Amino acid sequence: MLNIVLFGKPGSGKGTQANFLKDKYNLVHISTGDVFRKNIKNQTELGLKAEAYTQNGELVPDDVTVLMLENEIKQNLPCKGFIFDGFPRTLYQADEMNKILFKYKMKLSAIVALDVDDDLLTDRLLKRGLISGRSDDQSREKILTRLNEYRNKTEPLIEYYSKINRFHSVSGVGEIHEISLRLLDLVESVK
Ligand code: ADP
Repeated sequence: MLNIVLFGKPGSGKGTQANFLKDKYNLVHISTGDVFRKNIKNQTELGLKAEAYTQNGELVPDDVTVLMLENEIKQNLPCKGFIFDGFPRTLYQADEMNKILFKYKMKLSAIVALDVDDDLLTDRLLKRGLISGRSDDQSREKILTRLNEYRNKTEPLIEYYSKINRFHSVSGVGEIHEISLRLLDLVESVK
């Protein structure tokens, strides 16, 4: 199996590049943000639990998110592999993910961070907000909250994964296809 964790700040292009990798390698793409948005739209139990947090730009509590992730994995097995877009985002989630992977006899092939400057991200997100209608893309304040959540809770994962030597950082600046090529090179080298 090819299992890739793609992480990066809000607006770093995770979703776009995850789609590219999914098509290229026939993977199942689990975007935790998309799963939350779908559930919020359908007002499911999970959606109701996640709604206030996502709308404020805060992370959804770990217990809710971890259960959701395991469900998504379970529903899609067997498959050629997964691309995890937006999970894990906390150290706790990373620990829980290890347990889930062990349970389903899976391993992570690579953890990749898309690296982009905060200034560029805010511009990208405000522009996206005009088209996407996503409420968390509409105000500088909510974007700032998301960037702070990333810095405080997600960034420590870089050190966590560097210790197991599967961590890679790829520049997320440039044309979309250039960034895809960078990722392709990387995945080919770990495959
Ligand atoms: P972005 O990376 O641009 O913030 P996402 O679509 O990945 O967008 O996530 C949107 C929102 O969904 C996040 O702000 C957060 O509220 C929630 N979310 C997504 N993934 C997680 C996660 N692993 N843990 C907690 N909350 C999450």
